[in-house]
Formats: sequence, C-alpha cells, structure tokens
Amino acid sequence: MLKLDQIRLEQGEFQLFADTVFDEGGITALMGASGSGKSTLLAAIAGFLPPAAGRITVDGKDITDLPPGERPLSLLFQDQNLFPHLTVAQNVGLGLRPDLRLTSDQKIARDSVLERVGLTGMGNRLPRDLSGGQQSRAALARALLRGRPWLLLDEPFSALGPALRSEMLTLLRDTAKSEGLSVLMVTHAPEDARMIADRTALISDGVLEPPVATGALFDDPTPALRAYLG
Ligand code: ADP
Ligand code: MG
Repeated sequence: MLKLDQIRLEQGEFQLFADTVFDEGGITALMGASGSGKSTLLAAIAGFLPPAAGRITVDGKDITDLPPGERPLSLLFQDQNLFPHLTVAQNVGLGLRPDLRLTSDQKIARDSVLERVGLTGMGNRLPRDLSGGQQSRAALARALLRGRPWLLLDEPFSALGPALRSEMLTLLRDTAKSEGLSVLMVTHAPEDARMIADRTALISDGVLEPPVATGALFDDPTPALRAYLG
C-alpha cells in the first residue's frame, strides 16, 4: 500500500494536496487537466521533489526522505530515455548496473526480460534501429529488470500512434499482472484508463481525489471528471 499522508507539494505558485491510499496490485490511472500536477505528484513519489508537508509510506515504511534509487519503485517517462550510443541490451542492463558490468546471472535476467517484452534477439541493436514501439518495449524492460514492486509511468506511450499505444497498454497490463506489479499510470486519455486501469484517481483544483473503480467512475462521472471530459 502506497500512502500519501497529508501531502502538500509546491512548484513555484502551484500547490497540490494529496491524502490518499493506493492499494497494491493492479493499475491505477492518474488523470487531470494539463498543468493539474500529475507529473509533480509522480516526481514527489519517486523522490525528485521533496514534499512541503506530509509523509509518503509504502507498506508502512516511511520513504519520504529516501533518495530516488532506494525507493521501492521504478519510473518510466514519456521520453523513453534510451541512450543512443548504447545497445538495447546495455540500455536495459542499466536498470541493474549503471556501470554496465552485469554478472552472468544478471545477463540471464536481462535476456529474460527482453524476451518477456518481445525483444528477443534485438539486444545488440542501437535504439535508432528499433521502431517506436520497440523503443517503448526496451524502456519498459529496463524498468522491469529493476524488479521494484511499484511502477510509475508518466504518459509513457502518448508519443505512439493509436494502434501501437493500444499494443503497449496491453503489454503493460499483461506484464503488470504476471510480475505482480502495482502500477500508477499518468494519462490524459480517458480511453487508456478505461482500457487497462482498475482504478482511476483524478486531480482537480489542486487536490488529488481518492482512486475509484474506473468502470463505475466513467459510467457515472463525478463533477470533476465531467468537467475534465468536457
Ligand atoms: P501535469 O503533469 O498535470 O501537466 P505538472 O505537474 O507538470 O502538470 O505541473 C503542475 C504545475 O506546476 C503547473 O502549473 C506548472 O506550471 C507548475 N510547475 C511545474 N514545474 C515547475 C517548476 N519547475 N517551477 C515552477 N512551476 C512548475
Ligand atoms: Mg505531466
């Protein structure tokens, strides 16, 4: 369980309040208008923005002051952050060893994760020799290889066309299930949430609303969701 306990975040004039629990297992979509604070919230959970107030705990352990690398989570951005001069295998291996010196067991784990995301045999390619969808798969593989229980994604596939995006969402859903991950996914697309999110939480007017079942939310939208959907 990921708990945001009376959290207040500040970015310049902007403020965001969050006092909410994310249950583990399954996928939670985080939605809200552009500039509502979705990325700010992920940055705080991931450890890149210290809260102005409040505590963040995971399974009762206070992680508020932990450096990003020591938190029980991986973060995946829209810009996939693959290094152009490193091979796919090296880019993925960075998830375990920033110095690229993987043990033979780690290499086996890396190749297994490449296989699980459908990149078998592509480890020696450079990112530029992959399609957009394959680049997304490589970035997901790097996050998976770290083996952290929580996966945070900030509009990860929004640069992809509709067919590829849907393919990646399906891969994310299947992988999250088979690896037992808890996923927090920022998206501005209601159809993404409807497709794979068990729960959806909305940020509106500087406040994070608690997550609710996605189907029920869209069947009977709250005033905040109605305002967002327009
Ligand atoms: P979203 O991801 O929902 O589009 P963001 O979290 O990026 O929104 O931004 C939330 C608010 O914080 C916006 O009003 C933005 O202008 C402001 N903001 C973001 N980063 C900074 C910063 N480094 N300095 C000042 N204000 C910022
Ligand atoms: Mg954002």
